[in-house]
Parts: sequence; C-alpha cells; structure tokens
Amino acid sequence: MNQKKILTSGLKTPCYIIDEVALTQNCSQLKQVQDETGCKILLAQKAFSNYDLYPVLAPYLAGTEASGLYEARLGATHMPNKECHVFCGAYRKEEFEELLNYADHIVFNSPSQLKKYGKLAKNAGKEIGIRINPECSTQEGHDIYDPCAPGSRLGTTLTQWQEHMTEELIDLLDGIHFHTLCEQNSDALAQTLTAVEEKFGVYLHKMKWLNMGGGHHITRKDYDVTLLKKCILHMKNTYQLEIYLEPGEAVALNAGYLYTQVLDTLKNGDMHIAILDMSAACHTPDVIEMPYRPPLFLSGNAGEKAYTYRLGGPTCLSGDIIGDYSFDMPLKDGNYLLFEDMAIYSMCKNNTFNGMPLPDIYVLRADGSFELLARFGYDDFKYRLGK
Ligand SMILES: *Cc1c(COP(=O)(O)O)cnc(C)c1O
Repeated sequence: MNQKKILTSGLKTPCYIIDEVALTQNCSQLKQVQDETGCKILLAQKAFSNYDLYPVLAPYLAGTEASGLYEARLGATHMPNKECHVFCGAYRKEEFEELLNYADHIVFNSPSQLKKYGKLAKNAGKEIGIRINPECSTQEGHDIYDPCAPGSRLGTTLTQWQEHMTEELIDLLDGIHFHTLCEQNSDALAQTLTAVEEKFGVYLHKMKWLNMGGGHHITRKDYDVTLLKKCILHMKNTYQLEIYLEPGEAVALNAGYLYTQVLDTLKNGDMHIAILDMSAACHTPDVIEMPYRPPLFLSGNAGEKAYTYRLGGPTCLSGDIIGDYSFDMPLKDGNYLLFEDMAIYSMCKNNTFNGMPLPDIYVLRADGSFELLARFGYDDFKYRLGK
C-alpha cells in the first residue's frame, strides 16, 4: 500500500507526493467515458497543474482547460498536440493576442466580451463559445462554489442573452459552455441539463459543441457513471453536438499526499493539540475556504480512537487548523503524519504567508521510486515580494 511506503519513507517534510498509479487509474476511468460516449474530456488545470505529470495524463485526455493566459500557455506547452480551451471572466486586451498563440477554443463570459473579442478570435481561426448561466442551483452549503447563486457574475443568463445577443453575435458562436457543479454526482447534471434545454435549447441546435464544465466527481466510488453517459448521449443526439467535460478534481482525486511531521504537542484545558510543520492556511487553503476535513492515514474522527488531537500549523493565524483527529497512540514530537487526497487544489493554491516554506513536490512513480519535481527555499518566498 502506497500510504505505508510514504509514511516510512523519511522524505524531508513537509512535502507533497503525487501518486502516478492513482492518476492513471482515474484517467482510464475518464477514457472509458469518452470511448463509450464519444465525448471529449479536458483537464481543468486550476485544480491540478503539475505539468511534469501531463505526459502521464495525455494519452487518456483530449487536452487542457485554462482559466486565463498562463494556464493556457502551460497547457499548450506541456500537453502539446492536444486541444487547449480557455474560459476567463474577462480578458485583458494586451493579453488576448498572446492567448491566440495557445488556445484553440475561447469561451467568453458575457455578450460584451464576445462583442469585443469575438471577431478577432474568429479571424485567427479559433472556435468560440459563450458561458451561460442556467440559473439552476444544485448545491447546498458552499455558496462561493455556486455560479448560479443570485447576482452571480459568471455566465450569461437568459435575460442577459435576450437583451444583448444580436443575430450577428450568435452567428459567431461555435459552442455553449456552462459550469455550475462542484464535487457533484450525475443527478445534479441531469437536473442542470433540464434547465439548460428549457432556456437555451433553441440556440443549442445552432451550435457545434456543448461544454458541460467541471464539478463532475466521476472518479469517486459512488458516482453514477451510467447516468452521466445517458446525459451525454441525450445532448449529443438531440442537438447533434460534440460534448466536452472539463473536470479538475476527478482527474487527480485521491492521487496525492501531504507528508508532515509533528513539531510539538500541548494541552489547553481538555484540548490536546499538535503543531505540525505544514499549515492549512498556506498548504491546504481549501481546508479553510471550502471548508473540508482532509482524510488522514491511520486516524479516526475526534473521540473514535483513544487519543484525540486538534492539528494545526505553526503560523500565527488562530484559525490555521486542519481539524480534530484521533489516534491509537499519543502523538509525539517527530511523528510522521500523512494527509490524503492532496493532489487537487493544493500545490496550485499554495502561498508563503508567515514566511512558511513551500513543501517540496515528489512523484511516486509506477515503479515504486520517488522522483523530486520541485524543491523550494527562501528565494521562492523573497522574490514574490520585491527585487
Ligand atoms: C473550476 C472549474 C472547472 C473544474 O472544476 P472541478 O470542480 O475541479 O472539476 C472546470 N471548468 C471551469 C470553468 C471551472 O471554473
């Protein structure tokens, strides 16, 4: 089991370890969906952009999806000869021309952005899409991940479409894009598609493709792949469309670890505390933003095993807490811990708040060897702040 191997590896902590075999397993599931439906699946790089692994992903995927110029450049460079799609809330004029060197599919957020850049992109031979907002919220709990929430800036609502989309603008379009899901199952997709068809169905007949965004938790154990395939084929056959999906999480779900060490233990009242050499605020920001509780190898929920600790980072932020976990043995200075599912929204969201060092990045190769991909030091902290 890879967890045991990593836990006893003695690698310098804190460090991330990307699991090549787990990545490949996710990708072959995604490949199967593509093979059985004829859809195309792209890697949403904002979730996972460790480009050293792109050669591992490339044989299984149709290409990459980017949130702007830099990710588009990364995708075009490191997953070459594949499709490169980009969506951005608004494009900068100075950057747009450069973007044309990298992206082959460009999605606009609003009719005004389409009007501003559509012809330029079209003349450069690009396929053009617009992001719609079907105003169909299917998630509860985290509003910051709901682009269908009232007043959202993401995507064009039917009202906005009717007010601003001229015939000329519609004629520029090759496709329609929506992204409304987050860590969801295919029942939420089915519900969303009903709203998309009801509101935008007449326009879909004129399009070449439909991009159904990310948030499809396809590689999660309980995901209903049969319903997903049904949804894809329904849209494909009803409107004669090429279907794209661009999951981030599903590509690298459960395919990485954060290896860390206990630096100190203390007790405040009844609360046992362990301070680790990793920080939630710096190294796993989604633990605080989302929020969520990352799985920790060989631990239980608070109170489940004999010894419960609140795990936190060494920074000055009171809320720099990963969560409460229980263990069979008391924690001691120098103990190693291994957080799981750490490949997504971690390395690409890191920061150096408090001057925290960035964790090194390794890949555990299929042959069982550890390969160092990146090592960081003082300079990485310093040069982001001045000369
Ligand atoms: C975030 C995002 C994705 C990927 O979402 P996951 O939840 O990681 O699957 C895809 N497309 C767009 C436009 C996004 O903003």
